[in-house]
Amino acid sequence: MNSNDKVMERFDKHIAHSYGRMPLAMKKGAGRRCVDENGKEFIDLGSGIGTNSLGYCDEKWADAVCAQVRTLQHNSNYYYTEVQAEFAEKLCAMTGYTNIFFGNSGAEANECAIKVARKYSFDKYGKGRHNIITLVNSFHGRTIATLSATGQDVFHNYFFPFVEGFINVEANNIEDLKQKLDDTVCAVMIEYVQGEGGVNALSQEFVDAIYDLCAPKDILVIADEIQTGVGRTGKFLAGEHFGKKADITTLAKGIAGGLPMGACLMNEKCSGVLTPGTHGSTFGGNPIACAGGLAVLDRLGSEGFLDEVCNKAAFIKSELEKCSEVSSVSGLGLMVGIQLKTKKAAEVARAALDKGLLVLTAKDKVRLLPPLTISYDELKDGLGILISILEE
Ligand SMILES: *Cc1c(COP(=O)(O)O)cnc(C)c1O
Repeated sequence: MNSNDKVMERFDKHIAHSYGRMPLAMKKGAGRRCVDENGKEFIDLGSGIGTNSLGYCDEKWADAVCAQVRTLQHNSNYYYTEVQAEFAEKLCAMTGYTNIFFGNSGAEANECAIKVARKYSFDKYGKGRHNIITLVNSFHGRTIATLSATGQDVFHNYFFPFVEGFINVEANNIEDLKQKLDDTVCAVMIEYVQGEGGVNALSQEFVDAIYDLCAPKDILVIADEIQTGVGRTGKFLAGEHFGKKADITTLAKGIAGGLPMGACLMNEKCSGVLTPGTHGSTFGGNPIACAGGLAVLDRLGSEGFLDEVCNKAAFIKSELEKCSEVSSVSGLGLMVGIQLKTKKAAEVARAALDKGLLVLTAKDKVRLLPPLTISYDELKDGLGILISILEE
């Protein structure tokens, strides 16, 4: 039995089998490469589902995190910390939001957004205006409320009863939206690019329609930027590509470079909604996660960083479009969906593993979410392996 197998056997004995795991036991990583228990090296074009935004164990990030571990690892949210204040200041400065609630995951950020939207409406209009429109094929998380919000039937099994108050509209169908946007609705929740749903960007017309129809009725727009945010698409927020700023934006995944952190960002309008006792989290805004987050924001704010993300995205697209097995490339920035002509995405991901490459899938597409810091050499190597598998 090799070292990978030994770890996998111990792991599977006691850990819930809630994931379709790949046969890889990851031991360590540096930069954009990781190594398994057998010592085999991988180029990682998935970055832990877009979470290791600066790659593995980035020096400056690790220094900031370690320094914080040795200073203050946790405090109750009944007290203040400077590191959380500083992180919030920078995040607000980079996004234009005024108020933040910190949690520990994407689902928690969305739970917060749902609560804020409902309370905003209740405070202003009273009962009966609690429905939230979400899109078919969306993904908003695994808690009961965020599962209920998720517009994919495959997720709506077993866990009945689901939370009421979510209405699904077909993405890019303005008529469907118009019909369902009645006076029971307090918010519309969207992903500008549906990630888990297959790396599909919304159309500019549809996004325009959402904002145009919601504004006069004081219906809030919630942008779930858990996957698209924090530089992933080449802008700090994907909404910038569409010229839009939602009332509420949620972030997680890449925000703290691989530490658990979720953020619910609110504009002026929503800033007063959460009052003492209405929401909370023991770990939310943890100092170590904030220190990691500050290191991520510092890097993203550095001269030319996001332009480079766009350049790398263009490079990936042009390389992939030369491949005869690729029928189309979707997504935005370093969030890439690859539609194949004849091969199965899951089989490609598995074949890539054997050849020292990590890629993801989304529905029937191969999905790439490389670290934002990836170099052209690493991209060339990684894409070379992928294309060789596709053209086999
Ligand atoms: C990953 C993801 C979530 C859920 O985040 P967790 O941290 O797994 O709870 C929610 N929405 C989107 C768009 C995501 O990509």
